[in-house]
Amino acid sequence: MGCRFCGGGDGWIKTCRAPDGSRLRVCDPCYGPKASELVIVPGDRVVTARCDRCGVYANPREFAEVRPGGRHGAFSGTCGPCAGEGVGGSRTELLRNGGER
Ligand SMILES: [Zn+2]
Ligand SMILES: [Zn+2]
Repeated sequence: MGCRFCGGGDGWIKTCRAPDGSRLRVCDPCYGPKASELVIVPGDRVVTARCDRCGVYANPREFAEVRPGGRHGAFSGTCGPCAGEGVGGSRTELLRNGGER
């Protein structure tokens, strides 16, 4: 299930087509040096996650917290900005933009 080269990777690593036509799954670190030989093909699973808090759709990799189980094979979780809310100043930003009563 994991990366063809290192056996690692996660649930949303790339699916690629090799020069000989075979399909393989490759994680980012292994894809890098082989980018010229491998062609990325759409994977069989949707590589999208939806943030529970702000509703944004993004690459699950950018999420601080992610889990399967969203709609249409999407993941759901908490995106980076929302996860960092308690630490940074984005909470103020959020209130200013949409929190008026
Ligand atoms: Zn790898
Ligand atoms: Zn969010």
